[in-house]
Amino acid sequence: MPVVARQSPVFRFAPSPNGPLHLGHALSALLNRDMADAANGRLLLRIEDIDLTRCTPEFERGILDDLDWLDIAFERPIRRQSEHFDAYAQALERLKMLDLVYPAFMTRGEVKTHVAAYEAQSGKPWPRDPDGSPLYPPLDRQRSDGERAALLAAGAKHAWRLDMECAAPHGGSGLGWMETGDSATGRLPADPRQWGDVVLSRSDAPSSYHLSVTVDDALQGVTHVVRGLDLFHATSVHRLLQVLLDLPAPVYHHHRLILGPDGRKLSKSLGDTGLKTLREEGASTSDIRRLVGL
Ligand code: GLU
Repeated sequence: MPVVARQSPVFRFAPSPNGPLHLGHALSALLNRDMADAANGRLLLRIEDIDLTRCTPEFERGILDDLDWLDIAFERPIRRQSEHFDAYAQALERLKMLDLVYPAFMTRGEVKTHVAAYEAQSGKPWPRDPDGSPLYPPLDRQRSDGERAALLAAGAKHAWRLDMECAAPHGGSGLGWMETGDSATGRLPADPRQWGDVVLSRSDAPSSYHLSVTVDDALQGVTHVVRGLDLFHATSVHRLLQVLLDLPAPVYHHHRLILGPDGRKLSKSLGDTGLKTLREEGASTSDIRRLVGL
């Protein structure tokens, strides 16, 4: 009988080179390495640089230096999202064919004005997503095909958004994911509707975080996604996109966040918890492990 090799687990660390890495990233990267080792698995590094205005090669070099210093080995070649816009475009094309996306013409400023006017007039809060951003108003979703075609033909700047009302039912009532992280564990229900019509590509960025992360996890054969709890709710969108694009679902592990002295999530502008600063101040890699509670 032929022996079928069991596929080894695949983990990935996926930082965005839009600032220096901090202790929160160290926890994520070290945990990915530890979990991959414990599972006899592989660890990939993916540079999430679709935001061409904020990501720089210098920040990418800084990430590689920090990981090197932390002695975190990962497989090469590194996948850089900016080199794979065609893969995300193909996925978007498929969603267009399924009639699950629409061109969205409102700028961020127009959305803000629309929301403020509604709240002032009605005295009611406009619905917001788990990150606190207002859901995209339904105006563009309700346009006729003719109106859309005319706006597109006139060259109106637009993003492509998922039509959540049409897309969500494709997930079925049992949409969920397997979670092993630091909050709830087990099979958890996904609720993509709470995000409204998420953006999948913008006129100035050919793919969005949600689209590219979903496509890449599948293309790279990622079986275990280990990332911070700040991305816990985003998993609902990723699960729906996986169903729509016919992609496999990894197991998810959302880990605790490292908080700053003010009790807030670390940000890339907090220099004092930056890995480079800590390294220059003489911290050792075991100090970093201790600082992040590993
Ligand atoms: N690129 C994202 C970040 O730096 C992480 C994406 C993910 O792990 O899914 O926050």
